[in-house]
Amino acid sequence: MLSEFDLIARYFTRPLRPGSAAALGVGDDCALLSPAPGHQLAISTDMLVEGRHFFAGADPALLGHKSLAVNLSDLAAMGARPLAFNLALALPSADEAWLEPFAQGLLALADSHGCDLIGGDTTKGPLNICITVFGEVPGEQALRRSAAKPGDEVWVSGTLGDARLALAALLGELTLDDASLAAAAPRLHAPAPRVALGLALRSVAHAAIDLSDGLAGDLGHILEQSGVGATIDVDALPAGPVLSCQRPELQRAYCLAGGDDYELCFTAAPAMRDAVLAAAQASGTPVRRIGAIEARPGLRLLDSAGRPCDIPLNSFDHFATP
Ligand code: ADP
Ligand code: MG
Repeated sequence: MLSEFDLIARYFTRPLRPGSAAALGVGDDCALLSPAPGHQLAISTDMLVEGRHFFAGADPALLGHKSLAVNLSDLAAMGARPLAFNLALALPSADEAWLEPFAQGLLALADSHGCDLIGGDTTKGPLNICITVFGEVPGEQALRRSAAKPGDEVWVSGTLGDARLALAALLGELTLDDASLAAAAPRLHAPAPRVALGLALRSVAHAAIDLSDGLAGDLGHILEQSGVGATIDVDALPAGPVLSCQRPELQRAYCLAGGDDYELCFTAAPAMRDAVLAAAQASGTPVRRIGAIEARPGLRLLDSAGRPCDIPLNSFDHFATP
């Protein structure tokens, strides 16, 4: 059986990349990080708990990927460049058949974003994966939730709802044919954080947030922190390719309150429309304009004919459900 230190050495200790922002990685009491001069550190933590955020027995390679992806998504939403991350792991046992693919999935995504694993903690316990990411953003350029202004347009990247659709099928809430489930499941299990778009939106967008709990709730955080409201055209929402084959009410509900999308929702002045499209093109990320920020508080949902839509929305809240 591997010891704690063998486990760390074998799976989570690698040389730092050349040019790494980390001056010291795994092995000492602390790692050392040197952000570029004039930059601020952007720091975020996300925890994934077995039975809460993923099913018991989930594929370890996908879990490794997703654990880091959800953290990188937070950096993307601030317009921050990923530098490094810490990994705190509680494991029921030092099972190499689990650790090997977990580390592979985790570190493959880390490598693709030039993000070094620089430390962490390892303990025995119910499976729990907690990552803290460190990114950098030039001073005053972070995309804050509090920066939306009346008159801004509201944009969303990529497509929405396919992750929630896959989850619904896996929970038996609805049935999907095998091909549809196979097409939707990667959105749930292997999200692609929109880091390149976040970087391209620096000094283009005003406010931004990543969509983890559903568009209506997450946009609601921007509205609240910015002291504004918004009107959204529900017919402009970019439903995922699999969700697009479902009935319209389900499309709307999952686009607005599905969760696990890991797309970016952001606001920008109308004069920046071309700059937003250029950022989307430069980062290879589709974006769609879905509404506008207004001074009047609250979120108003209209269809493309301008009729108000009454859609029951339950954004995800860990303490609202048993
Ligand atoms: P300490 O006793 O100071 O907390 P540990 O013995 O827990 O140190 O860890 C030894 C080294 O291994 C530290 O540099 C720590 O950051 C690193 N480390 C521990 N667990 C992990 C992990 N899961 N992934 C990466 N590095 C880790
Ligand atoms: Mg420790």
